Amino acid sequence: MEKNVKKYLILTYGCQMNVHESEKLAGILETNGYECCTNAIDADIVVFNTCAIRENAEEKIFGNIGELKNIKIAKPDMIIAIGGCMSQQKNYADEILKKYPYVDIVFGTHNLADFENLLKKRKESGKKVSEITEDETIALRDRLTIARTSGVNAWVNIMYGCNNFCTYCIVPYVRGREVSRPEEDILREVKQLLSEGYKQITLLGQNVNSYKGKDKDGNEISFAKLLFDLDNFDEYKYRIRFMTSHPRDLSSETIDVIAKSKHICHGIHLPVQSGSNSVLKVMNRHYDIERYNSLVKEIRDKIPDSELTTDIIVGFPGETEDDFEQTLEVMRYAEYMQIFGFIYSKRKGTPAEKMTNQVDTKVKKERLSRLLELKNEIINRRTAEMKGKEYEVLVESYDENKNLLYGSLDSGKTISFAGPKTCVGEFIMVRVKEVRKSVIYGEIVNLDETISFAEKNFKHPIEVSILPKDQNSMKILRQNKQKKKEEDNKKSQK
Ligand code: SF4
Repeated sequence: MEKNVKKYLILTYGCQMNVHESEKLAGILETNGYECCTNAIDADIVVFNTCAIRENAEEKIFGNIGELKNIKIAKPDMIIAIGGCMSQQKNYADEILKKYPYVDIVFGTHNLADFENLLKKRKESGKKVSEITEDETIALRDRLTIARTSGVNAWVNIMYGCNNFCTYCIVPYVRGREVSRPEEDILREVKQLLSEGYKQITLLGQNVNSYKGKDKDGNEISFAKLLFDLDNFDEYKYRIRFMTSHPRDLSSETIDVIAKSKHICHGIHLPVQSGSNSVLKVMNRHYDIERYNSLVKEIRDKIPDSELTTDIIVGFPGETEDDFEQTLEVMRYAEYMQIFGFIYSKRKGTPAEKMTNQVDTKVKKERLSRLLELKNEIINRRTAEMKGKEYEVLVESYDENKNLLYGSLDSGKTISFAGPKTCVGEFIMVRVKEVRKSVIYGEIVNLDETISFAEKNFKHPIEVSILPKDQNSMKILRQNKQKKKEEDNKKSQK
């Protein structure tokens, strides 16, 4: 007879920080005997890990919570829990409880470590539970089991929160002020992950450059020192990445450590947001474009094979044509390997929302298309220059159907190439054979040697999923939504 195992489904919205926090929620649920499933119909508990960065993310979340109503009517014992950045804001938490009375638990970003207790409370009392604390130090006490989902990659929080208050950003209001994890905890976690076979560790924080943790003797240490210490597990072959950096806080000391390191990647994400000093000032970014450009130069001088990537906001309130031209200028200067360009959209509760000089939508769209044109020109040219060169690649996954391997370069770029499954999890040399637009195809250098090395090393198949476990459910929810829309349309036409 089949065992009656309880099932969970986690729906994750937003950034990498949320993806990692969903791994922590999954760890709590698995420790309590739940198993992961891929749709709400099978689930005994559905957890929404929400995002508050963009307005359309919220609409999507509300829509998805609404879709669970009928399932909850059919399965009244199913628990629905809403956590993350949206529910950390009191107005949203109240709205959720009022508009969706079938929601059982609402919890804030800082209450994640306490989720097990909230679940227990809900089960024992049979009443709704709503806990939202402002105490950001709770996260430091977490010693959670993490159900990691990403093959050779693992994420490690080094700090929580942000002190910067960029005028467009909601993060400091929902994640609180910066708190850094003690260095010893981070070193222990990374060493453990390496011993378990993880090969690429990404350090997470809203602004990792302002890390100020304590070492084992209680002395305050910088991000540079943390990186230096993380570079010393020489019994393992691995990479360390970090996200995300703030140009104000990226120190020369950190650049020096990266330049001399053995394991720290040379791909650095350095969000510029705008090339205009007047816009940067209104954004409250605490640096000017001269400081930014001097950082770019310092990185290039000290780390000649470095690759920069960036984020840019187009059409911030008050942005003139001249300001925008200066943004294009910095793109040409920095020669980024990737650019994430976004149209500015108002974020409720931020100072920029109230600015009266909002840029017309048509102008914003036109500027974004010019930005994308220049981005493609730069990236396509830079990628084409890679043809014929050899790179060390970490093989991250294998596609059975296409018989293709996918891997990442030190810069973070993805490359695909033919090869056996046994190469997954290995660092191998790959030659770039073809570049179509910015997509890179390669071939293994010294194929026979690599294959026999990989086969010798191959111990067990590594479970690799590039997407978080819940993507399938997101797809199902989207399909349900579309179906409902079509049915509603049919009904209204009758
Ligand atoms: S640095 Fe600015 S954009 Fe980044 S999380 Fe902090 S406030 Fe938001």
